Amino acid sequence: MIFRQLFDSESSTYTYLISSRWGGEAVIIDPVLERVDQYLQLLDELGLTLVKAIDTHLHADHKSGLGVLRDRTKCITVMGEQSRADVVAQRVSDGDVITAEGLRLEVIYTPGHTDDSYCFRLGNRLFTGDTLLIRRTGRTDFQNGDPWAQYDSIFNKLLLLPDETLIYPGHDYDGNTASTIREERQFNPRLQVNSADEYVELMNSLRLPNPRMMDIAVPSNLNIGLSQQALEARGLGISVAEARKSLEQEQVWLIDLRDSAERQRHGWIPGSIHVPYPSLTPHLNKGGILRELMAAGNSKRLLFYCAYGERSAMAVEAAQRVGLSKVCHLSGGLDRWKKQGGSLSDPEMQYFGETVNWRVPERQSKPPIRLREPKP
Ligand code: FE
Repeated sequence: MIFRQLFDSESSTYTYLISSRWGGEAVIIDPVLERVDQYLQLLDELGLTLVKAIDTHLHADHKSGLGVLRDRTKCITVMGEQSRADVVAQRVSDGDVITAEGLRLEVIYTPGHTDDSYCFRLGNRLFTGDTLLIRRTGRTDFQNGDPWAQYDSIFNKLLLLPDETLIYPGHDYDGNTASTIREERQFNPRLQVNSADEYVELMNSLRLPNPRMMDIAVPSNLNIGLSQQALEARGLGISVAEARKSLEQEQVWLIDLRDSAERQRHGWIPGSIHVPYPSLTPHLNKGGILRELMAAGNSKRLLFYCAYGERSAMAVEAAQRVGLSKVCHLSGGLDRWKKQGGSLSDPEMQYFGETVNWRVPERQSKPPIRLREPKP
């Protein structure tokens, strides 16, 4: 396991870089914009491929590195479903699991500091963002903060985890790096209360000044989405109506780029072939399923889609880079498809999972192609 706790001294922010092995896939939690070059150098030195960049919540004290990391590494940006950030590629909710090679981060919704605050649990490590800090808790007086909700998040979710769970916070101002649930329950002065009322009273009496960067950081962090307009202008981003028509006329292969967990939770467009975005590149290359589909002919285009159109826009560009030109994506993704009344397969009724059996047309004497995540 590779685990790095990185520090931005300007904003006292901790950023975490995690991978299951040297040369493997990595995720990053709470990256700071000004530190992106440092992260990229470390990723390069350790031979890691960044697949997911996660923010625990919409930050008010520093600019997020999510958008720039996506642009420079083609990783997936992840935040909670309540986030007001314009476009995030993957939105998670309580009970979800964020995966990367050899890693499973359990998603815990912990509103209070903000209404989009999440904690992520990886084995015995808990990344607490600004919900639970070392000997403090995150302030609750702006960005839809709510001390009642925070009491519930901390006392009824986090403090129920095993005592030895290691806490890795989003910030520290006193030189601490980690703690445990046991220590915080015992020594965190804000947790020495007898009731939710007492906690709320304590939090409401703090009277803290606003963060120095607040007026710059919040607007910046709300606008981290990938612009899909350029692709639309080139005819590579199509509307829901156009997608429907293309599907009816069997002019496209429909490719779902989301994770299995997203498919199970939100359903999928009937007829989709599932190719998770992190495994896209091998499938675009020689021998990959998508190249085979194109070789199978029928003058069909590949129509990529994902949750909001970010991953699919990047997939169009990736396909074009390796010489596949008959590609397009569904602008706005499944979100827009649903809003405009597009039909869905019901995950309860029908589950294809990671692997879809699919046969190339009869005239091709090739074996059935099985979709599966290629070995790294
Ligand atoms: Fe915060």
